[in-house]
Amino acid sequence: MKYIGAHISAAGGVENAPLRAQEIGATAFALFTKNQKQWESPALTPKSIELFRQRCSELGYPPCSILPHDGYLINLGHPSEEGLERSRKSFTDEMARCQALGLDRLNFHPGSHLNEISTDDCLRRIADSINLALEATQGVTAVIENTAGQGSNLGFRFEHLAQIISMIEDKSRVGVCIDTCHAFAAGYDWAGKPSLFEEENISMTEADVKGAVVLRGYDKIIESFDSIVGLQYLRGMHLNDATKPAGSRVDRHASLGKGEIGAEVFEKLMKDPRLDGIPFILETPEPEIWPEEIAQLKTWYGQK
Ligand SMILES: [Zn+2]
Ligand SMILES: [Zn+2]
Repeated sequence: MKYIGAHISAAGGVENAPLRAQEIGATAFALFTKNQKQWESPALTPKSIELFRQRCSELGYPPCSILPHDGYLINLGHPSEEGLERSRKSFTDEMARCQALGLDRLNFHPGSHLNEISTDDCLRRIADSINLALEATQGVTAVIENTAGQGSNLGFRFEHLAQIISMIEDKSRVGVCIDTCHAFAAGYDWAGKPSLFEEENISMTEADVKGAVVLRGYDKIIESFDSIVGLQYLRGMHLNDATKPAGSRVDRHASLGKGEIGAEVFEKLMKDPRLDGIPFILETPEPEIWPEEIAQLKTWYGQK
């Protein structure tokens, strides 16, 4: 089963998200459980939690079809002690909110070194942050999203994700979400044809400095992910086309088929049995066409 949906507004309360998801024909959805642009948000009320759980169960959204996203201010690899403390506190609160809502995973961006600490140091901090949050909560998997590598954001190479996972104590509660636009911007050219004559062989350090295409071709990318990270860690995907070219390191989402990735790649993703059992979430910029995008994805997948 592939669960297919979009990142839905939780305006007016998290309990509204499953209703909105159903309205657009989604079998999956993503949401923020608090204001994503603020550090502090009021606690979820017992009423809100109860309604959310009840509606998800009535409308047929099991936890494995829901991929909550954490707030934008959190940086789990922050170079300063103060910034790190604040981020860790907020992230643990986000994990606890998911636990209260009966959700089993939380999607987040790994973190940024802000040009103040090394990549290794930053990845170590991110892993420590995840370990602390896992210790403080139960039943929720920390799902690391790959990034476009914009600015000093880490997580743009599969190797970064693998390095973080290697330092997580409870590996049953860590996972990965692949965002197709982020991967493309980071140099994973989904639609590109693998060259017969030369292997892409850009070192991580080179790609880190200048941005570049590091890998071409759908199958090569999935196989590379499997060998470096492991498909068993995949807990969700974000489906976004990209307005900027592969390797640009610029994160600009486009509607499916209206960008540089192209519709065929999304059809391949839907038809790939290696990717079953996870939520596929649109974060495309035209919510008014989400019903059509979802219907198209379902058709490719073969679901009525
Ligand atoms: Zn994200
Ligand atoms: Zn995303």
